[in-house]
Amino acid sequence: MASLTYRINSNDEIIYVSSAWDKFAEENQGKENQSSLVLKQKLWDFISDPETAQIYLMLVEKVRKNKKTVKVPFRCDTSEFRRFLYMEIKEMDNGIIEFNSILEKIEKREKVLLLEKNVERSNEFIKICSWCKKVYIENEDCWYEVEDAVKKMNLFGKKRLPMLTHTMCDKCFKELSE
Ligand SMILES: [Zn+2]
Repeated sequence: MASLTYRINSNDEIIYVSSAWDKFAEENQGKENQSSLVLKQKLWDFISDPETAQIYLMLVEKVRKNKKTVKVPFRCDTSEFRRFLYMEIKEMDNGIIEFNSILEKIEKREKVLLLEKNVERSNEFIKICSWCKKVYIENEDCWYEVEDAVKKMNLFGKKRLPMLTHTMCDKCFKELSE
């Protein structure tokens, strides 16, 4: 995977996306976010989870205010790979902010059906953290790696799997808002 770069101007409008954007958009939000369609639009319009959007806003504000590059780790998993990345956010000239996502490590794993796109879903929802990809188990009030969550929720062999809703776990929210 090539590193993903995008830039916003001082009005937070997307002015540049690298060629890796299309692949990223396809894996994450679907085809309606293709690079040809996102230019001149506000970055915030592409972040569906309000907590994540809030964190992005805060990080950008921090970079603009302190003129310092911010680096945050995150996961961008697929059903078969754990992908460990970090995002670098830095200020360029004229209030332009550049986001650079760099892949640090990739681990193959046994396919996790819960993260597959084309599986049948029930109308139940479970929460997944947009940043660390941990899954929330409600009756334990705890966040687990997806493999552990699948075991704990007894999802093996289930015909329909719950839908995933992207949010932020407490740990990521705390760490990123500091
Ligand atoms: Zn998290």
